[in-house]
Amino acid sequence: KPRILDDEEGGVLFLASSLSSSSSGYGYGSIEKQRLRLPVYKYRTAILYLVETHATTIIVGETGSGKTTQIPQYLKEAGWADGGRVIACTQPRRLAVQAVASRVAEEMGVKLGEEVGYTIRFEDLTNSGVTMIKFLTDGVLLREMMDDPLLTKYSVIMVDEAHERSISTDILLGLLKKIQRRRPELRLIISSATIEAKSMSAFFQTSKRHQGLEADDGPRKDPAILSVEGRGFNVQIHYVEEPVADYVRAAVSTVLSIHDQEPPGDILVFLTGQDDIDATVQLLTEEAQANGKNKGLIVLPLYSGLSRAEQDLVFSPTPRGKRKIVISTNIAETSLTLEGIVYVVDCGFSKQRFYNPISDVENLVVAPISKASARQRAGRAGRIRPGKCYRLYTEEYFVNEMPAQGIPEMQRSNLVSCVTQLKALGIDNILGFDWPASPAPEAMIRALEVLYSLGVLDDDAKLTSPVGFQVAEIPLDPMIAKMILSSSQLGCSEEIITIAAVLSIQSIWVSTKLQKELDEAKLRFAAVEGDHVTFLNVYQGFLRSGKSSQWCHRNFVNYHAMKKVIEIREQLRRIALRIGIVLKSCERDMLVVRKAVTAGFFANACNLEAYSHNGMYKTVRGSQEVYIHPSSVLFRVNPKWVIYHSLVSTDRQYIRNVMTMDPSWLTEAAPHFFQYQRPDPIGH
Ligand code: ADP
Ligand code: MG
Repeated sequence: KPRILDDEEGGVLFLASSLSSSSSGYGYGSIEKQRLRLPVYKYRTAILYLVETHATTIIVGETGSGKTTQIPQYLKEAGWADGGRVIACTQPRRLAVQAVASRVAEEMGVKLGEEVGYTIRFEDLTNSGVTMIKFLTDGVLLREMMDDPLLTKYSVIMVDEAHERSISTDILLGLLKKIQRRRPELRLIISSATIEAKSMSAFFQTSKRHQGLEADDGPRKDPAILSVEGRGFNVQIHYVEEPVADYVRAAVSTVLSIHDQEPPGDILVFLTGQDDIDATVQLLTEEAQANGKNKGLIVLPLYSGLSRAEQDLVFSPTPRGKRKIVISTNIAETSLTLEGIVYVVDCGFSKQRFYNPISDVENLVVAPISKASARQRAGRAGRIRPGKCYRLYTEEYFVNEMPAQGIPEMQRSNLVSCVTQLKALGIDNILGFDWPASPAPEAMIRALEVLYSLGVLDDDAKLTSPVGFQVAEIPLDPMIAKMILSSSQLGCSEEIITIAAVLSIQSIWVSTKLQKELDEAKLRFAAVEGDHVTFLNVYQGFLRSGKSSQWCHRNFVNYHAMKKVIEIREQLRRIALRIGIVLKSCERDMLVVRKAVTAGFFANACNLEAYSHNGMYKTVRGSQEVYIHPSSVLFRVNPKWVIYHSLVSTDRQYIRNVMTMDPSWLTEAAPHFFQYQRPDPIGH
């Protein structure tokens, strides 16, 4: 039995520190050997013992120590998947779910989708009755609760990457705590890369009063904390002397000088999203070519939305004599481990969601990361030997200005989806819900207000029937769901489902430097009504071409994205049929299509400023200044009234996926929303 130092604070366990799992050199040795070398292996018995004896176990361990890939396998080996039960492991990110599941299937020597499977939204690769270990996004697990509120098929649920504090993780934790009271046999593992275990432990601590009432048998209710020792190697930190103006250029020149001056070892560059990553890949490739240094370099992007083949390239060992450069979003910060990284370049930013309940505007913003993130990023350089991290910001900035911790997503998000889901799960008193981090009351009120106007909630803030329940059934944002429901009455559901499918992926256009050619290609499809109708034109063209990849290539349309659209569309049609939506095409009557979009997105209406010469709009509610994004077909057209789907901030607030509309539709779609300055969400 492991040695347990059981103290008042809830069973803190430290075992002898293990060594780093350095897998030296290239070609990483046999998979079995690699598994035994991982730091978490030394804790195998301890983990299994704690899970056996505690309802909740919190496991903290450095990225790459083997938490995600190993613990579910240990649980399976110990019998937690016997008798048809399933071990679940959640991740905040879809790409991480896929990558980790495929790695574990490989380690177990099974076909992905059989003993080891995964589920992400619109993609289920599991085999019921066969799958023992299932990776899934936390959002998908929340959805599963709608059909099975106590998640009865799972014996252990591992909530991974808890330090990320994604909104779904936080909701999940609150609900799992409730489920535990009804299902004492369920085990929870909460795993995280950083020591924030204390607050997590406090959250799962049952109150003293509860403890007094507990029966003696069964697992202990207070959580155990296990810390997996196993530090990486030292990482030398370098800062820039002066703030950099353009981090794409700075990243490129830093990478080239590392390649020039430093010994072999792969480079991981942290940027923020597909746009700047693609730009960096391109610039780096060009400059390396110009300097004649491209021979030894393999430059690869890493962000969600990559094809399976592109993902595999990132994880495959670097050929001898080459240097791999992976340009990534913060997905490589803690979710995924890349072997062979010795150098990290950190731009100091990431894409983050911000919501302002006063203006009711939710933004995807490129914002500074926290010190905790910066340390994680640097840590990625010390995996196989001492490494170096190049921060593209000054030391002064790091010390004095960078925030210590990030803010949980719950406190910087629009809560419309979150409230709908909780309501659908029968949580009526949302303000009294036991959150790991309480959302802002203003944000909560805003969400109730919008949901009331959408007809999802009634006067008593209960889910309406059937609309509210139907909206909750559709695995998309409530505004999209409402748009789909309205299309049923308006007779344009086939079109609206296509639009919903396109809106749920990043972009259907290829990312290219040939801006002029791309714009010309877009003009071939552009509709005066805006981007939504343009999407319908592209979709029609794609179908008429026989779903041809050459057609896509000629028209700057992303073939993979279009295939995904077809897939998602098929799934949405199935869901629509299930909840009683009439599938019908409006045969080119775009008026009803636009009315259906307005029925969902009335809250995103904007009006062109009368005297604006530079295309400035104001949101109808909140009077925020916004501009049409250059990627929109309505950019520079500037119709008087528009509705947008999403908003991004760079130098300005840009609205993306924009459609023209008639203001009289607004009061038609949501009389309460526009009639009063601030309608009472409860309606009294
Ligand atoms: P943690 O969850 O603690 O961050 P993981 O379980 O994700 O650690 O990773 C453990 C090890 O498994 C990594 O260090 C790496 O060596 C290996 N590994 C994980 N995913 C992959 C993959 N997709 N391809 C190759 N190796 C992988
Ligand atoms: Mg992990």
